[in-house]
Amino acid sequence: MITEHAQCHCGKITAEVRFSKPLADFEPRACDCDFCAKHGAAYISEAEGSLDIRIKDSEHAVSYQHGSGLADFLLCGHCGVLMAVTYSHEGGTAGSLNSRTLDNRRSLMPAQTSSAVKFLSDTEKPERWKQVWIQNVRFS
Ligand SMILES: [Zn+2]
Repeated sequence: MITEHAQCHCGKITAEVRFSKPLADFEPRACDCDFCAKHGAAYISEAEGSLDIRIKDSEHAVSYQHGSGLADFLLCGHCGVLMAVTYSHEGGTAGSLNSRTLDNRRSLMPAQTSSAVKFLSDTEKPERWKQVWIQNVRFS
């Protein structure tokens, strides 16, 4: 596995992500929902990867829900950067990292706009996240 580092602008939230292939092989997905578009977020994930999110102090973490309210968007409460989106279910937590927060984001292919999720129902969305998102997300 290849380890990559990410952080918000001020560094109060950091993340370590592990993928089976180099960043150059990933095409981030720019979700075109209003929230993600306003942040310019483009997500990167791989089901067999892992994501460790470290929050220095819980007061620096903001969790935001919108739309179906099924997913939690993690933002730094200090510098405002959108770090990741996660979905907690009975089997654990799945998530997708905002690729813009990666130290080596310039290695990535250009983001492709994806409107796939917008048209899924509230029961289809979690099923997709369990397939496409990183299945091993931990917080510390
Ligand atoms: Zn920050």
